[in-house]
Amino acid sequence: MSEGFFDGNRRWVYTQSVQGRFQRLHRWSGRVLLAFLVGIPWVSVAGHPAVQFDIPGRRVYALGTIFTTSDGFLLALFGFLAAFSLFFFTSLFGRLWCGYACPQTVFLEEFARPIDRFFEGDRSQRKSLDAGDWTASKVARKAGKYLALLAVSAFASTSFVSWFSGAHDLYTLQAGSTAYGITAAFTLMWFADLAWFREQFCNYLCPYARFQGALCDDESLVVRYDTKLGEPRAPGKASLAENHCIDCKKCVTTCPQGIDIRDGFQLECIMCGRCIDACDGVMGKAGKQSLIEYNTQAAVTGAKPRLIRPRTVAYLTLMLAATTGIVAMLALHQPMEASVSRSPGPLWTVDTDGWVRNTFLLDVTNNEAVDTPVKYTVTVTGLPEGAVFDVPEIVLGTTQHRRVPLIVRVPPNANIPHHIPVHVVVHAPAGDVVRETSLKIPRS
Ligand code: SF4
Ligand code: SF4
Repeated sequence: MSEGFFDGNRRWVYTQSVQGRFQRLHRWSGRVLLAFLVGIPWVSVAGHPAVQFDIPGRRVYALGTIFTTSDGFLLALFGFLAAFSLFFFTSLFGRLWCGYACPQTVFLEEFARPIDRFFEGDRSQRKSLDAGDWTASKVARKAGKYLALLAVSAFASTSFVSWFSGAHDLYTLQAGSTAYGITAAFTLMWFADLAWFREQFCNYLCPYARFQGALCDDESLVVRYDTKLGEPRAPGKASLAENHCIDCKKCVTTCPQGIDIRDGFQLECIMCGRCIDACDGVMGKAGKQSLIEYNTQAAVTGAKPRLIRPRTVAYLTLMLAATTGIVAMLALHQPMEASVSRSPGPLWTVDTDGWVRNTFLLDVTNNEAVDTPVKYTVTVTGLPEGAVFDVPEIVLGTTQHRRVPLIVRVPPNANIPHHIPVHVVVHAPAGDVVRETSLKIPRS
């Protein structure tokens, strides 16, 4: 295992390149996820971003629907669903997210390590380069490598910020200064990570890595070295003939986390499968069985791993509950929000003509993803005879909000009650919204 960063004695991990079935899987999963990360902010639905987290505007665009702060519970349910899904899949398949889908791994595998190899060669050449004197060639190689990593960091950062400020605005310099400030800050962070911090992020900073132990059990998939088959290890043909580990250390030199999986399961392992491919290349090439595999502790002890067990059932139940809540809330999602509140001040005023005036504030928000503004009309039902109301015209574009005064005037009448329930109805093409309130009349 590599030395700790925080003790100031870090051992740099020189990862050797490796080919194999899991690296091919890696390539595909990485490219699909990169396409998703980079491509989605460019996709539009009904003239709006397919997905965008517009934090200054306090709204989220999702496939033609706009969610605002009033949909906070719905957004929280999406967060719960994502978390429970992660728990569920981790309890079944261990840290496959880390090995195949985490942006940290994807950017390291797809960009940083190929850049290392392009400018400095494979593991042994990189070690020699770092150990050697500073020559013009070394300066040029290091400069080229760090410039390339800086460009990748800028690309990663811009792709990430695009999910919040919109790809078109960001790339055409129409986004706000905050967006560019955050992009610059993320670029520096990504650069520090790709150029130097690397595996230490997983080992020391990532919260997901921290609670792995609580999510996995003996029936979760992990990367294992087969000690029964592989031991005793020894270099040489005799060992190979017995299908024992020949101690070639390929599984160690290819490991991006700098660990030796033959020491047993370790929390640093991100389940990337590089050591499996490395051992495949050694043992498989000689017609022997690979000594490292994806397996469960239960299978190793002869038991049959179960998919259905208390923790997977619990996580699945929570996922289903969150999904049900999301579906229900989406079905009830209002294309328009409206609320009525009393205007600050006295509950009523009496005008010079003797009529009683109640003043309300009507808030209307257009949540519809439409290109043309929507016109809203307002009626008030339940008014006493002769009462009139007045409200300005409300026309709102997508996500616009407006607060208008709603004035109700009631003619003088000694027989009307002190408290009169009324309904304020806001009419829109997509449907009406009804809000309850009441008129207050002075006691005569
Ligand atoms: S031990 Fe194997 S699977 Fe785990 S991080 Fe290292 S190479 Fe990847
Ligand atoms: S790659 Fe396989 S044979 Fe080589 S040291 Fe690792 S476990 Fe042993």
